[in-house]
Amino acid sequence: MSAAIDPVCGMEVQVSPDALTTMILLSDLPNAAQPGRHRGVSEGGGERFYFCGRGCLLDFQDEPARFLDAGFQPSGM
Ligand SMILES: [Zn+2]
Repeated sequence: MSAAIDPVCGMEVQVSPDALTTMILLSDLPNAAQPGRHRGVSEGGGERFYFCGRGCLLDFQDEPARFLDAGFQPSGM
């Protein structure tokens, strides 16, 4: 099984069908696939991100650009 990185807290998350996930379209947020910032999984025209829990998912959906900014450092839980 593969793993992705939770962009909010930096935790490794197992990629599975019941994982908490959200999809960002690159047309909405080009930063999502910047080189070296690839934390999610590429998926037709966008990037799918995985989260360790509901809190991180909601934070991310609130303000995705903040967590995908090159200057953002995951703070851990
Ligand atoms: Zn998290």
